[in-house]
Amino acid sequence: MDLSTPLQFVKGIGPARAQMLGAKGLETVADLLYYAPFRYEDRSNVKPIRELAPGEKAATVARVATAKLAGFRRAALGLFEAVFEDESGNTLLTRFFHGERYAERLVPGVRAALFGKIELDRASGRRLIVQPEVEILSGEEEDNTLHLGRIVAVYEAAGKISTRVFRGLLDRILREVALPEDALPKSVKERVGLPDLASAIRELHQPAAGTDLRLLNEFRTPAQTRLIFDEFFWLECGLALKKNKARAAAGISFAVTESARTQIKKMLPFRPTAAQRRAMQEIADDMKRAHPMHRLLQGDVGSGKTIVAAQAAVIAIENGFQVAVLAPTEILAVQHRAYFERLLQKLGYQVAALTGSAGAREKQYVKNSVAEGLVQMVVGTHALLQEDVAFHNLGLAIIDEQHRFGVRQRLELFRKGAQPDVIVMTATPIPRTLALTLYGDLDVSTIDELPPGRKPIVTRHVPDTDVERVYSFVAQEIRAGRQAYVVYPVVEETETAAVKAAEKMYKHLSTKVFPGVRVGLLHGKLNTEERTAAMREFVAGSTKILVATTVIEVGVDVPNASVMVIEQAERFGLAQIHQLRGRVGRSSQQSYCVLVTGKLNDIARERIRTLVSSNDGFHIAEMDMRLRGPGEFFGTRQSGIPGLRLADLLRDADLLELARGEAKHFLESGTQSELRDAVRYIQEHWQRKYGLVQVG
Ligand code: ADP
Ligand code: MG
Repeated sequence: MDLSTPLQFVKGIGPARAQMLGAKGLETVADLLYYAPFRYEDRSNVKPIRELAPGEKAATVARVATAKLAGFRRAALGLFEAVFEDESGNTLLTRFFHGERYAERLVPGVRAALFGKIELDRASGRRLIVQPEVEILSGEEEDNTLHLGRIVAVYEAAGKISTRVFRGLLDRILREVALPEDALPKSVKERVGLPDLASAIRELHQPAAGTDLRLLNEFRTPAQTRLIFDEFFWLECGLALKKNKARAAAGISFAVTESARTQIKKMLPFRPTAAQRRAMQEIADDMKRAHPMHRLLQGDVGSGKTIVAAQAAVIAIENGFQVAVLAPTEILAVQHRAYFERLLQKLGYQVAALTGSAGAREKQYVKNSVAEGLVQMVVGTHALLQEDVAFHNLGLAIIDEQHRFGVRQRLELFRKGAQPDVIVMTATPIPRTLALTLYGDLDVSTIDELPPGRKPIVTRHVPDTDVERVYSFVAQEIRAGRQAYVVYPVVEETETAAVKAAEKMYKHLSTKVFPGVRVGLLHGKLNTEERTAAMREFVAGSTKILVATTVIEVGVDVPNASVMVIEQAERFGLAQIHQLRGRVGRSSQQSYCVLVTGKLNDIARERIRTLVSSNDGFHIAEMDMRLRGPGEFFGTRQSGIPGLRLADLLRDADLLELARGEAKHFLESGTQSELRDAVRYIQEHWQRKYGLVQVG
């Protein structure tokens, strides 16, 4: 048996268990060695019942004497009580809430190990453990030294494979297999002060007596730290090598001339915030370099990313190049076109739009102008990516709302120019190191400040039974001269149910609730002209209420709108609601967001609570990641992040930071032979395992 042995051939596993393990992604002995326990229990303190002292946490082994699942009275529903008796005849009471599943297993005669805080039950005078950890012991003769009298690891079960079976399997493997060779460069290990690999793996599964339980459960013992660090270190080395290679490619070196500076000053309608100026500087520095820029511009919704992108556009155009702006929806493309046109027309630049629904002749006209270099900027949707769209000389691509587009689309746009610079903008900001890792090939600029004078949006949760109250509030805001959105959930833009709901609500609101007020309707089933008209009327303020499906989710900018009502808010994702909410609060006036919901499950309630209590996009993105898991949040495939085994991008953010710094330091200062070994290691292990593209 060695590290690469398929688990099926390990003694005690066989085909059935191998299949259950396979379902968890565990194929080989090595996989099992890296299967991390999700928590640990201190069972070193095992005592007979007689010696259990109230107040202490302890373990004991005893047999079920009597057990009962408490009756049908509502208050006691699901309460399960079992009395345990040990060899010396002493008894211990245990109590489980929602104990139905224990009732089936803890029947009289069953022997079990129990752990928990010892209390005294006043009524019976017995020792008591409420909600103990329970592990049923199988046979009289079984060797329990792996499971009792020490700190034990607790594994997530795989099919029918229990934590006890895992403990047994790992014990055998640890005794019989030669553990992996330690590839972490010695210099790094010493700098950080990390234990060697073999002992770290051992400690992961069988912590030594006296190991700090709190550290263990926080995954911060030296052994756990070492293993988590490993994963991040190689990941960061791999990303850095890949990025260095991409950075070495030839690109356009833009000059930031005096005339460009003058044009930028002329364009800016307001004083940029310090954060905007910093991002502008980072982008300008990148553009000057003779290599392609790949930069993520992240900032909370409303933080003013567009003007930063516009400044980059001026630099490109002043250097005689064209700029492409890629937007995720048609509505947003139209908005962007108007916004950029307002900014750039006064500088004498031509801005065109290319979207899927434009007429054939218009499209052809725009394509010709783009190909001949008659327009300096073209704003569009996916239509821009089409084969037959050619640029005269594309120098800068700006991609809005990155999470809607994959890496592939970015590359398609990239190929339309001679190595153009690329800015991707996202309104889902995340901590810098995390962003640098997840979007491995991008540099990151963050706008972490809102334009001055903004009042935080007040967010309220209202049950749908109280929706009349919401409407009277909306009426009040409209009388005060403001405008409101009422949004309905839609999973896909084509979903007819939501469109129907919006249409129905539009009728209801415009005729019954707000008879004297002009109400507009906007959804994905309308044609472009109708949509543009609906948007235009709302922007102009001639409609006061806009009933919409989520087509307005991204980027719409109407500063006079002060209320965002989101119906069936429980059906939206966290980040999505935050985006929607960002459509208001765009002026110095107080704005409101009302989340109307039906009955909530736990996760939905947590989401609503987060939104009501926070306006901070960083915090919301983090909560979203926690509630949905980073894989789901980013779409693992798109971000190219490999499946991490022990490391957790959120929990271990500090170690990610550390590993990133160490990887950088190592790549800059490692010896030739260390670097050669590292590249080989990455090629052999990391790359194969995680399927990333060629390194080095
Ligand atoms: P987002 O980052 O969500 O794309 P926008 O670029 O749409 O944000 O900007 C939001 C609003 O704030 C726009 O109306 C924009 O004109 C305005 N804005 C941006 N920066 C500033 C600033 N420094 N001072 C005042 N208003 C600003
Ligand atoms: Mg935007």
